[in-house]
Amino acid sequence: MAELKTRVGIIGAGPAGLLLSHLLARAGLDSWVLERRSRAHVESRVRAGVLEQSAVDTLCRAGVGERLVREGIIHHGIELRFGDRAQRIDFEQLVPGRNITVYGQREIVKDLIEARLAGPNAHEPVSFEATEVGLTGLAAEEPVVHFTVGGQRHRLACDWVIGCDGFHGVSRDWLPKAGVKTYERTFPFAWLGVLANVEPSSRELVYALHERGFALHSMRSNDISRFYLQVSPDEDLRAWTDERIWAELTCRLATVPGWSLRTGPILEKNLAPLRSFVVEPMRHGRLLLAGDAAHIVPATGAKGLNLAVADVRLLSNALVAWYTHGSAELLDQYSETCLRRVWRVQQFSCWMTRLLHRFPSDDAFERRIQLAQLEAVATSRAGATSLAENYVGLEHV
Ligand SMILES: Cc1cc2nc3c(=O)[nH]c(=O)nc-3n(C[C@H](O)[C@H](O)[C@H](O)COP(=O)(O)OP(=O)(O)OC[C@H]3O[C@@H](n4cnc5c(N)ncnc54)[C@H](O)[C@@H]3O)c2cc1C
Repeated sequence: MAELKTRVGIIGAGPAGLLLSHLLARAGLDSWVLERRSRAHVESRVRAGVLEQSAVDTLCRAGVGERLVREGIIHHGIELRFGDRAQRIDFEQLVPGRNITVYGQREIVKDLIEARLAGPNAHEPVSFEATEVGLTGLAAEEPVVHFTVGGQRHRLACDWVIGCDGFHGVSRDWLPKAGVKTYERTFPFAWLGVLANVEPSSRELVYALHERGFALHSMRSNDISRFYLQVSPDEDLRAWTDERIWAELTCRLATVPGWSLRTGPILEKNLAPLRSFVVEPMRHGRLLLAGDAAHIVPATGAKGLNLAVADVRLLSNALVAWYTHGSAELLDQYSETCLRRVWRVQQFSCWMTRLLHRFPSDDAFERRIQLAQLEAVATSRAGATSLAENYVGLEHV
């Protein structure tokens, strides 16, 4: 058994865990990150790509924004398509000075790992392929994380343990059952995600509601396009040949005269369920949760990664205040402050999901109401402004 010690033990090397460890290191606080997957696996996972300005600012201020600023693509609007209409939601007009940046989550993860392993904080450890992760000592406020790497058991004594291990992690189970409440909703469809080696067909993201279901045209760079198709939750990925994917995307997206979809080699396909989940509170004693470990929002609003960054921003400030001034105030407020934003974002993400997907239970009446709602967003400045405000990110929550 190897005996180790650190101030902050962090479970999970996704964006939340890596960014937290990086922010702490910049404040002179040591931490230890445990990740159950390999570095190669973590760096190759394709997921989010839309960053709010506040997330970009956080990454830049943390010194890991150089490539993001160079390669990220700033967008000043998105497009909604429904019926035979295309309506641009113009951020410059509706929320002047605010926008989004398209930059892949895996690029953020690579930048953070690079900063951690090769930068001035290279001495800060990340243990990849850590298994059998467990926690003891929480009741006595002397937490110890146990884990195995390369067949050897380790015992890591910490002041604080932060669960950043995503929705399928273990740390949420360490909260006591009594006093903890969870809220969950599973949507009756999933997203088939497609990464393709083809120049985007649109300069901005296109969100489409079609008779056959939702489709989203996004991008990761000037050469790589990202698409999502609403499919049934038990869909068999093997049934989706490349030809079928392009035909379905063309059918749902190319509904506007003069617009056509560029096609090319498909690099990756995956299925993701759409769900909402929140655990309250996000703290028990010396254990705190951040990011997807504590909350999931349906991906339609492009908010999960942004919420994870917002949690970590608060948490790093709270831990720094505790270590430098002995002040527990921010740590005590952490859960409540995060949850205020989480529920606002949950509301927006669910609203956008309801607006843009075909719900199997909807009858003809509901479908007409849905189109009327889209019409209201498209034609009312107040409606479009509300969408734009939420999409670029809530500033004061
Ligand atoms: C299809 C899709 C599209 C999305 N699009 C967007 C978007 O455009 N914008 C946006 O903001 N968000 C988006 N999201 C959401 C976003 O990807 C997540 O919110 C984000 O990954 C959360 O980061 P995290 O660090 O909290 O969790 P994760 O990224 O899930 O990281 C958790 C880490 O913990 C590790 N781990 C798990 N269990 C253990 C364990 N027992 N021990 C040690 N390590 C463990 C995992 O391997 C993982 O590396 C999307 C998600 C999906 C699925």
